[in-house]
Amino acid sequence: SKPPLHRNIGGIMSHFHSGKNGAPVPENFRLEEITLAPDLKDGEVLVRTLYLSVDPYMRCRMNEDTGADYLTPWQISKCVDGGGVGVIDSSRCNNFAAGDVVISFNWPWQTHAVMTGSDLQKVDPQLVDGHLSYFLGAVGITGLTALLGIREKGHITKGANHTMVVSGAAGACGSIAGQIGRLDGCVRVVGICGSDQKCKAIVEDLGFSTAINYHLEDVPTKLKESCPDGIDVYFDNVGGAISDAVIAQMNNGSHIILCGQISQYNKDVPYPPPLSEETQKNLQSKNITRERFTVLNYMSKADAALCELSQWIKSGRIKVLETVVNGIENMGDAFCSMMKGGNIGKQIIKISH
Ligand code: NDP
Repeated sequence: SKPPLHRNIGGIMSHFHSGKNGAPVPENFRLEEITLAPDLKDGEVLVRTLYLSVDPYMRCRMNEDTGADYLTPWQISKCVDGGGVGVIDSSRCNNFAAGDVVISFNWPWQTHAVMTGSDLQKVDPQLVDGHLSYFLGAVGITGLTALLGIREKGHITKGANHTMVVSGAAGACGSIAGQIGRLDGCVRVVGICGSDQKCKAIVEDLGFSTAINYHLEDVPTKLKESCPDGIDVYFDNVGGAISDAVIAQMNNGSHIILCGQISQYNKDVPYPPPLSEETQKNLQSKNITRERFTVLNYMSKADAALCELSQWIKSGRIKVLETVVNGIENMGDAFCSMMKGGNIGKQIIKISH
């Protein structure tokens, strides 16, 4: 019989024992070596994985009910999947040839995989000047989330002296959102994040006006100091107490971009999680908008938005931060680390050259 095509390593997960509450741990994942089928069928391609993504929404896929109809739960003892970029090794699909760079939202956590062509999208490496991992971040879903979230829900007006606050400001979405806020005309962009190193990076490297370390500093006091004219736009990645503090200082008729609520993802609460009575009152009395935003509902605008992001990055007006770890064996660690703030910029796992 033929020799195996590839020795393969897949990330295999098991569910929490504690149900929907609790932080994920690397032990929720296990590695397995498998052998891929030796022959491709019609319509199939063999891909080699270059980079994989870990993202907060994956925490919802670890629950039996993800709470969102566009997200399926990961299955116990099946290979997990998420955003990935790779290169076609061999193809029996007319749309793809060996050497093509492709992406998918449902890339298996494997070093190599047999995939159906219809699950893949070909991308142009020139869009990212060869930085292929950007397709998972700044020129991918998190960049789109920042740009389209701001454009659809932010109502930034040039010349109106708007102040923007971003929570989760040093993360994948937040780090891009703050830079777009500045480019779109905010006079002040204040970031809230979880370490002094992150604060330094978003101010010195990305051009945020001020950064607040929510672990060490009093957020309401620092917000008062750094937003003397109140807050007009809030890009919310985290929810919880940080968002309560921001909302308390928002102006009449201001806008929240409800991007995510990561501070609540390890808890058994619906999405979006319920607000405190006081915050709810603040929203109503000050006529603050807070509409749910899901980037997947705006994919008809993705191509134009990706071009805009690509041009900004190529021209140096947007800087991209990434935290890269090597090796498929570190997927579980990287996911859990990102959920606890171990990343600056997009958390990426490099699988092969
Ligand atoms: P990030 O790169 O921002 O990584 C997650 C970050 O969240 C960590 O680095 C950590 O930074 C912060 N964090 C973790 N726990 C807490 C907490 N309890 N309180 C405050 N901050 C916390 O991830 P993404 O950029 O990929 O995602 C950011 C948000 O955007 C998430 O809520 C995600 O669900 C959402 N999202 C929404 C989309 C949409 O369509 N609406 C699409 C994509 C993402 P720190 O050190 O600062 O605590």
